[in-house]
Formats: sequence, structure tokens, C-alpha cells
Amino acid sequence: MSSESSSRASILFPLPLPEAFDYLVPEGLELGLGDHVLAPLGKRMVHGVVWGLKPGPGERALKSVEAPMGGAPLPAGTRQFVDWLARYLVQPPGVILRSVLRSAEALKPSPTETLYQVSGTEAPRMTAARAAVLDAALALGEASAADIAREAGVGAGVVKGLATAGALTTISRPIDPPYGIPDPEAEGLSLTMLQAEAGGVLRRLVRAGGFQAALLDGVTGSGKTEVYFEAIAEVLRRHPDGQILIMLPEIALTAAVLSRFEARFGCAPAIWHSAAGPKVRRRCWREVAEGRARIVVGARSALFLPFTNLKLIIVDEEHDPTYKQDEGLPYQGRDLAVLRAKIEGAMIVLASATPSLESLTNAQAGRYVHVRLPARPGSAVLPQVDTIDLREHPPEAGRWISPPLIAAMVETLQAGEQVLLYLNRRGYAPLVLCRACGHRMTSPDTQSYLVEHRYTGRLVCHVTGFSMPRPKFCPECQAEDSLTSVGPGVERVAEEAKHLFPDAKIEIYSSDSASGADLVDRMERGEIDILVGTQIAAKGHNFPNLTLVGVIDADLGLAGGDPRAGERTFQTLVQVAGRAGRAERPGRALLQTHQPEHEAIQALIAGDRDAFLETEMMAREALGLPPFGRMAAISFQARDVQAVEAAAGRYAAAAPLTDGVEIWGPAEPPRALVRGWHRRRILVRADKAIDISAYLRAWKSRVKIPPSIRVTIDVDPYSFM
Ligand code: ADP
Repeated sequence: MSSESSSRASILFPLPLPEAFDYLVPEGLELGLGDHVLAPLGKRMVHGVVWGLKPGPGERALKSVEAPMGGAPLPAGTRQFVDWLARYLVQPPGVILRSVLRSAEALKPSPTETLYQVSGTEAPRMTAARAAVLDAALALGEASAADIAREAGVGAGVVKGLATAGALTTISRPIDPPYGIPDPEAEGLSLTMLQAEAGGVLRRLVRAGGFQAALLDGVTGSGKTEVYFEAIAEVLRRHPDGQILIMLPEIALTAAVLSRFEARFGCAPAIWHSAAGPKVRRRCWREVAEGRARIVVGARSALFLPFTNLKLIIVDEEHDPTYKQDEGLPYQGRDLAVLRAKIEGAMIVLASATPSLESLTNAQAGRYVHVRLPARPGSAVLPQVDTIDLREHPPEAGRWISPPLIAAMVETLQAGEQVLLYLNRRGYAPLVLCRACGHRMTSPDTQSYLVEHRYTGRLVCHVTGFSMPRPKFCPECQAEDSLTSVGPGVERVAEEAKHLFPDAKIEIYSSDSASGADLVDRMERGEIDILVGTQIAAKGHNFPNLTLVGVIDADLGLAGGDPRAGERTFQTLVQVAGRAGRAERPGRALLQTHQPEHEAIQALIAGDRDAFLETEMMAREALGLPPFGRMAAISFQARDVQAVEAAAGRYAAAAPLTDGVEIWGPAEPPRALVRGWHRRRILVRADKAIDISAYLRAWKSRVKIPPSIRVTIDVDPYSFM
């Protein structure tokens, strides 16, 4: 067993194991770092990645690597990213590797098809059928057996027979056409002065090389996309093999964005998002690993792709809450993108009209280059924002659109322009209760209110997906027809709009809509007069004929104790108002509110984002909250409420005492009971100077929690509530 040449490989598996394990490398097998192998783990053969190589057979008796698996090795940068993330996110490295590998199927070679061509060699036995095939093959050039057979009017067996006989040669060709080569010199829009200046700053950063970070801070509709296209073009010019990742919120990955890209660079990018089928994703993964995909447009999980030569990352709409993943492996995609850029020595551009406080702080501190675009191109101007005080102008009883908003809608529709009514509530009504006994319909699993969806006639739990038909009798007091719908959702506002404007074409756009892309197209073509939408409608779209945005409830989101609520509401309202007036026609936004004096609303009207953010920053700084301190959440879940309480209690008791760290809880988080799982949570706040990941790792190593309890550590919880 101990020959001189034998050596060991430590193999990391995409599993929640504490570390990589050592194996013997069988003689004659050459392994390199990042190679994919099969190795025995317990009774199974498991796909793992070579994480380290060591000389000699070592002291312990080791099992041997079974076989190499092929596929491009995992690049060094990607492996380093896995190791960094494991430490930063306080996770076993195999859990991060699992996010990178996704499915071992990515390793299968690209699918090919076999084509046939006349070889010039004569077939030994000529028949009429064979002669017909040879004629057909001559006429078709390279073609599949099925095509030749069809042309010749014979079975495909004859074609294959001729190949065996040597009269046809076979060629194997990849089925997927290669990704196109993007052309940096393709004709783009001619940039405005402001855009050209901003583009120039980004190009200079590309030329400087290495890790660079820029915050592209431009008002809605200012042309941020055109500006970051300049950075992309510069990377394409300077780095013939360089790769570029454009990250978008999942929802924004629409045909409109992709066609804009195609128009600028002359070919479609590779695409990575959850709705893309496994085939599309597999192909993307493989071509990224082989360095052939130059530009990837993807959602947050595209960060985990095995780039070989990443030069630029764009995070568009960087403030968007969907960059934060809460379930499974919790991470903030924007932060990870910055980390990845650092590891790869790449440049990163964070783009937004309403940057996160985190990114603004980094820009103000000089860690990011602050690139501003304060105006829209051409004659497009920012929408005029006004409030409608609902205390003075209440809608009719049981209605939600106030008289001043109705008047504005009349004007807009008469001018042949479009209206967006925004309400961030799916369904018909957020609550259904019994007029007779006051019973509220709640979800059996979470006790949260069931939301009425009139379109489907069901009551739905938005937490678990539980649903039931709307009952005829109150389940509590059995009264008949006593259930009443309370409050508005988009379906109800659409119903009201239909009642007010019977001739208008009205559509609802929410995550329940069958095809969002189709609605966006029809809206762009002017085939919809009034779009009633949730936040899905507020993001990134360009509707040139949209000139009025009515916000049904601007206060929604300002209530509650979440310190990020103000920032989030402000961002959403700026974005939704920003949908209006993106072309020649000026737009306006009307916010229905009960508290027009609230500072978020005041700042919106004044168009004074910086003043608003300044107050927010001061509040956060006073509390030591991000970005002025660090937060983490440790969650415990179990079927048994006593077990979860005991575990959370023991965990909290084991916290290392350190100056500058505060521990809150364990306490019941919102949704403390979901589908039979009880939850408890500990919140941790640390001063900026403290390495919170290291602190959490040290803490974790002090406690043993039984496997029946799920423990999740989130080093940057989005909501502190
Ligand atoms: P942002 O991302 O900043 O909201 P976009 O990049 O989506 O803005 O641009 C908004 C709209 O303005 C798009 O329809 C875009 O095609 C148009 N646009 C941007 N820059 C120019 C320009 N220089 N010339 C003509 N149209 C432009």
C-alpha cells in the first residue's frame, strides 16, 4: 500500500460535513485541484471535488478515490470563494459547495447529435433504397439519419447501414449552438453628456484593473443600463477571455431587458435563474466553467457559478430586497457579489436609483467610487409627486380610490395615457371576518389571516400556501352568508376601477398573474389603460405612455418596528413613482396617505432623497444598527415547542462574553409557528470593529444541539423584527 508515488487528496463533498476528507489517490491517476471525482462515503459513491493534494500515503489507513468524473475543474477563485463564504456565513464548506455544484449533471458532456455525409467510398451491395439514400445525402450535405431517410423515402436503418458499410461518414456536433460572441463596438444609443461622463468614469476603472467598486447612483429612468453597458464594452475590449456577470432581481429578468442587451451587443447572453429549466441552467453552468460563456445575466444564485476569468459584476437595482436569501442558506447577494469581486480581482458596479444605506455609506467613506446620474435623458423629467390626505379626501365607504385620484385618472385616460394603481397586497382582501360573531378566518398552521382571492374563489395563506374555498357558513357560529371581506387587495382595487371606468382596459399584475411578461408587453404597446399592480409592477419596467401612478396606501410598510421599514417604503415609492413619465410626456405620482407629515413621504414630495437618508442614517447610527454595526440572527426550529425553547436557551447561555456585543432573546420571531414547526430566535448586535462571523463560529463550537433541532445562522438578516 505504501508505494513511493502514492499520494493523498482531500475531497470536499457538497454535504453538511464539517470539513474535507482525505483519500488515497490510486496509482496511475493524475488529479489536480478542483477536479471532480467519485469517492466512497459510508456505503455510497459520492461526487466530490479535490480541495487539497498531499504527498505520501499518510499515517492512517485511507480509502481510495474511486474514479475521476470529468468536466472542467472548479476554478481556484471559485474554491476560494467557497472557503471564504464558509467562514463568513458560519457554514460547513460543503454546504456552500452544494450551492456551487447545484447538480452533478452539469458535468455531463454537452449533448451532441450525429450527422451523416457521403464519404466517397462505394457501398459493397447497392440497392434501390441505398441509392436513394446516397442521392438524398448528397443533396442535403450534413444531415441527421432521420432527415436523410425522410428525403429518400426509406427507413433510418438504411442510412445507418450505409454508415456501417463505409459509404457515409458520421460527424458528431453539439446540439446547442455556441453562445454568441458579444461585440463591444455594436451600435448603441448615443449617450447624453451626463451618461457619457459616468460611462467614462466606469471605463477608466476597468482600465485601472483589479478590484474596483463603483456605486452607480442615478434617478429612475436616467439610463443606468446604458452607462453600465459602457463598462461591459470596455471589459470586452480589454479582456478577450474575460467574463461578466449581470445580476438582476429575479422579477426583472424579462424579455425586455434581454432584448436591450441583444440590441447593444449583438447576441443573447447566457441566462441563469430559477425559472429557467434544468437544461438551460446545465448548459450555462458548463459553459461558464469552460470559460466559453462571456456574459451571464442571472438572479442572485448566479454568484455561485464557476467563473474561470471573472472581470466585472453588475448588481442592478442593488437595493432590491430579493437579493437577500432568507431560507436554506441565508445570504445577502449584494454583499457576496462584492466579496466575489474582491477574490477574483474584478470590478463591481452597484446600480440603483435608491441605493441601500449600506452602499451609500461605503460610497461616502470613499470605499466605492460614487457615480451620479441626476437627470433623465432628453425631455423626460422626473414625475411630480404629491400626496392626497385621506383624512381630508376620504374615498366612499367600502371604496379605496379617493376623489382627487379619480379626477386625475379621468384626465389621464382622456389624454390617451396610462395609469398604474399600486398596492402591495395580492388577492381581493387581506382579511375575511364574520359579521355575526367577529370570527377571523386564519391559517391552521400559522394563525395568520387568510387572504381572499376572488378570482379563484379561495382563501389563501400567503405564508404556507394553504388554501380553502370561501365558506358559506361561519366555521365558528355557523351563521349563513355572514362572512365579509375587509380591506383592499389588488383584485378589489381593480374591481373598483372597473366600476369607475367601465370602458377602460384594466389588468392586474401581481405574482398571481399567469404571465407577467405578457402583461409588460401589452402595457408597453398601450393595450392596457389601467394596470393595478403589486411591487412586481414597481420594478425596472419602462412604460413610455404611463403618466400617472396612484399609490393606494402609501402608509403600508411604514407601520411596525422594523428599522428598515422606512428605507424600504421610501425605495419602493421612489421606484413606483419612477415608472411614470419615462418618455416625452411628464408623469406624476399621487400618494394616498393618512400621515402626509411622515418624513419618508415628505422627502418623496420634496424629491429630497439625501435628506431622508441622512435622518435614517442618524437613527441607525444611534442604535448601532447596520451599516454602523453588524447584526446576526440565530434561528431554532423544531416540532416540539419545549425542545426548541430548551435548545435556544442553552445556546444563548453559551454565548461568549465580549465587549461590544449584545444578545437579544431567545424570543418568538414573527411567524413563530409554521406548518407544525416552532421557531425561536436570538438576535446579535455587534460593533462594527468586531468580526461577527468569528464570534459566531466560536460560539457555535461551544454548544452541541441535537439534530432534531434545526439551527440557522443568518449573518445579515434583512429585517430585525
Ligand atoms: P434606469 O435603469 O436608470 O432606470 P434605463 O437604462 O432603463 O434607466 O433607461 C430608461 C429609458 O431611457 C430606456 O427606455 C432607455 O432606452 C432610454 N434611454 C436611456 N438613455 C438614452 C439615450 N442616451 N438616448 C435615448 N434613450 C435613452
